[in-house]
Amino acid sequence: MAVPLKVLFVEDRPSDAELMLYELRQAGFAPVWSRVDTEHDFRLALDSPPEVILADYTLPQFNVFHALEIVRGQGLDIPFIIVTGTIGEEVAVECIKQGADDYLLKDRLARLGSAVRQALEAKQAQVERRKAEETRVQLIREQAARAAAEAAQQRLAFLSEASAILTSSLDYQAMLQRLAHLAAPYLADCCIIDIIQDDGTIRRMAIAHADPEWKDVADNLHRHPPRPDSDDPIAKVLRTGEPELVSVIPEHRIEKQGNGSDEEAHVLYALHPTSYLILPLTVRGQTIGAISLILTTTSRQHSPVTVALTEELARRSATAVDNARLYEQSQEAIRLRDEFLASISHDLKNPLGAIKGQAQLLQRRVKREYLSAAERLVKGLATIDSLATKMTAQIDELLDLAGLQAGQHLELHRQPTDLVALAQRVAEECQQITEQVGLRVEVMVPELVGNWDQVRLARVLSNLFENAIKYSPHETTVTVVVKEEERAGNTWAIVEVRDQGIGIPESELTRIFERFYRASNAAGHRKGTGLGLASSRQIVEQHGGTITVYSRTGEGSTFTVHLPIILTPGVETALLTPSAEHPSTAPD
Ligand code: ADP
Repeated sequence: MAVPLKVLFVEDRPSDAELMLYELRQAGFAPVWSRVDTEHDFRLALDSPPEVILADYTLPQFNVFHALEIVRGQGLDIPFIIVTGTIGEEVAVECIKQGADDYLLKDRLARLGSAVRQALEAKQAQVERRKAEETRVQLIREQAARAAAEAAQQRLAFLSEASAILTSSLDYQAMLQRLAHLAAPYLADCCIIDIIQDDGTIRRMAIAHADPEWKDVADNLHRHPPRPDSDDPIAKVLRTGEPELVSVIPEHRIEKQGNGSDEEAHVLYALHPTSYLILPLTVRGQTIGAISLILTTTSRQHSPVTVALTEELARRSATAVDNARLYEQSQEAIRLRDEFLASISHDLKNPLGAIKGQAQLLQRRVKREYLSAAERLVKGLATIDSLATKMTAQIDELLDLAGLQAGQHLELHRQPTDLVALAQRVAEECQQITEQVGLRVEVMVPELVGNWDQVRLARVLSNLFENAIKYSPHETTVTVVVKEEERAGNTWAIVEVRDQGIGIPESELTRIFERFYRASNAAGHRKGTGLGLASSRQIVEQHGGTITVYSRTGEGSTFTVHLPIILTPGVETALLTPSAEHPSTAPD
């Protein structure tokens, strides 16, 4: 059975086309054909593309190269065979280069059938190869898309698990530890999370290594966070707030592991990293910590995708830590407020009870109206007066404390005040609270008069005396020394309060003057508010003076107040800045 074949002749001689048709039929084809010899007709014929094009090389009005260009330009895959009378070797090669599938001479037309068949088969094979290639590319694309979708899915799952951890509790240490164990191995081989403490030191909150064999190294690193001013890359990120990505750590640095000095990065030398990424944890423009992701094999890299994912993780972690800290602070503030209210209402109720008692007593006496009671009446009224004065002072103190909490300045009521007499009076009042601890005042001068706010200074002294008594064991003595000193062209009044009490841990010495700060030594002792020293410092500093402390745990504490008697211009501000002469934690 003849094979139907749609043929387009590009030929100006009908007789030659006839000859070709003859050969094709001989070769078993049943040609359906058309013949063109101009570009215009050629283009028209391509509208309904043939299965094969047989083109004469030499046409008066048309050129084979041009015909090939048109076929290529239209993206048609049609076998194109050049059939010509004469053609040189070079021209033939050029024709093939330009896309012709074959060429033959008109006096060798007997080959036409097999040439067409071969060209058709070659085209068919080419089409199949292309189809197979397209299918392969399509498969690869689908696989890549599936892998990308799976990876995106995993990232989403990771983030949602991280979010669940970050919102699971307000204990942020436990929360960060769980997070580190999620991040290693998902994002890196090791994950470290550090947080900056209130005092500026770095606290290592969490470290997780995917390989349990590294547990000892990880534990060691957990115990040794970097110093804030060290060369450690984590310390650097915490200082600058800038992320750091080191993609490749040079071989010689990895080999140096274990030999690095303390100053050199712990992370670099202890974990044998091949690369690391450190991102700051930032909230409200402040760096509060850092998350470090360390890789220990060259087969893994911090890709842009994991960097972006870690950035998101860092953002969420920072917010969670911030929330947990704010919650902690608010709880602490509530606790302190309640403690403060309990303590202050206790202090106010005592004199109030006594006032009531005195008033009732006097009422009864007045009712009985016998004259011998006049003397006692006067005494009772004097007690009421003094108790009312005490309560007024306590209420004033309450107002000052409220102002201190709001960061306000005190309005001082300066008047000539004798510090010697004041210290003696306040000491007497404080001694009334207890007989277990003795309070001795040593005065080096008969009087020390300055232009001070008497009520406020009395409060400073009673804070210091009461603290000394409160934090001292029974049968010990508190010594108060009042003296005068000439220094730097000024005369200073000095009150030194020395106790033999429990002392204050060195690490907390700078903090005891902060509002609400109660040192760890206060636990188990009489209740307090943590406001006494803060308020004392404010009063003394507003007088242009200083208050300092020297203490050793178990040996006792000495608080020293310096007050200028004659102020020269400029001295007030100079005193407010701690200097070598007036360190805040050591006596002069
Ligand atoms: P508080 O009401 O707790 O006494 P303060 O502001 O007066 O508050 O003192 C702050 C902290 O300083 C106290 O909680 C205590 O830890 C410590 N402190 C103050 N004075 C002494 C002292 N003389 N001896 C030991 N610790 C003291």
